[in-house]
Amino acid sequence: MSIRLGNSCVNCKKYDNEYCTKHDTSVSDRHTCDSFAMITKLKDKENCTTCARYMNPTCANPKKAAPHMLCSHWAPQVQA
Ligand code: SF4
Ligand code: SF4
Repeated sequence: MSIRLGNSCVNCKKYDNEYCTKHDTSVSDRHTCDSFAMITKLKDKENCTTCARYMNPTCANPKKAAPHMLCSHWAPQVQA
């Protein structure tokens, strides 16, 4: 059995505010189906320039950090 959390309805192109526009039914992050169609761009705000570690000694990849780059150590910037 394949376990694929990424195939959740919330990552599907047919998902709209807890509703499946293909099957006209309520769905959640616990659902999926054979018509699943991955949203190709899940995150467009998380990148090095929005990372609290950018240009900071805590950056995990200081030699590679750049706009449009991202790594698993991304951290949100604190806002006042
Ligand atoms: S098409 Fe399938 S995977 Fe996509 S939102 Fe509807 S039920 Fe979920
Ligand atoms: S996303 Fe990763 S590489 Fe980019 S600034 Fe943050 S910690 Fe550094």
